[in-house]
Amino acid sequence: MFIDGHNDLVLHRWRGEPTNHMDLDAAREAGFAGGFFAIYVPSPNVPDPTEIPYALPLPDTIPFEEASRIADELYRELCALPVRRATSTADFRDGDVAAIVHLEGAEPVASDLSNLDDWYERGVRSIGLTWSRPNAFAEGVPFRFPSSADTGPGLTAAGRELVRACNRLGILVDLSHLNSSGFWDVARISDAPLVATHSNAHALCAASRNLADDQLDAIRDSGGVVGVNFAVTFLREDGMQIPDSPITEIVRHVDYLAERMGIDHVAFGPDFDGSVVPDALGGVAGLPKLSDALRDAGYDDDAIAKITHANWLRVLDATWSERG
Ligand SMILES: [Zn+2]
Repeated sequence: MFIDGHNDLVLHRWRGEPTNHMDLDAAREAGFAGGFFAIYVPSPNVPDPTEIPYALPLPDTIPFEEASRIADELYRELCALPVRRATSTADFRDGDVAAIVHLEGAEPVASDLSNLDDWYERGVRSIGLTWSRPNAFAEGVPFRFPSSADTGPGLTAAGRELVRACNRLGILVDLSHLNSSGFWDVARISDAPLVATHSNAHALCAASRNLADDQLDAIRDSGGVVGVNFAVTFLREDGMQIPDSPITEIVRHVDYLAERMGIDHVAFGPDFDGSVVPDALGGVAGLPKLSDALRDAGYDDDAIAKITHANWLRVLDATWSERG
């Protein structure tokens, strides 16, 4: 069974683009049980970096009204998919696909949190405070290579309130895309396991989006998890967007995270349909190849089960239950 920490299938459907990675029939056959389906209100005109080093500017903020309108459309797109919505870990079953409704960027949440309960009722169980841009709650990291994530201010007062409210409701707070000041604010405030749904080890790939060792340690100490992102620009040591990159680039980050944090804190966050992943993997249909690569690298069945799904289930259980 595979559970994925991040995919952008909904955005592709909303834009009317063909999906590259997330064929749901192939997914069922490959043992893909679902994961975090992002509702991401896109920033216009964000270029792909074409050379190293790169330092893209932070995109503008997106006003609440505009973000709400687009998020509603994206939500309807998600509801039209032939998948169940996951609000309990029992929703993840072999042969079936379940979607955790995930807001990637909290722009569709009013800064006074007046519509947070509505989103909860609609099934939202995970919120990334930011995408790589500023909003009313926090500031994301700009896309830069090489760069640390120490790029701007921490959470606003509204951001701190949002983290507390998510803790109360049992909504997972996702740290991917957040700058390091924001990360440490959440680490101080949150009483749930810390989670980065789709981020890698900065020690191996010095992109601003990746996590420094002290951040990995904090996630480990909280009982949380890091979903390894399959985007080659966040995997490769040179940060280059080269599709012809081997699957072992993913294993390299799994190795590092497992060594640094322990096997209980490593999972997958593929970024399918949101990024360029190794051609050798392709999309969801290629996930069994990744299990084989982990086996070749010396991981036993128990370790592979933790990485592919069990760690996600543990953290979701801890975050969603005993609350709400
Ligand atoms: Zn993302």
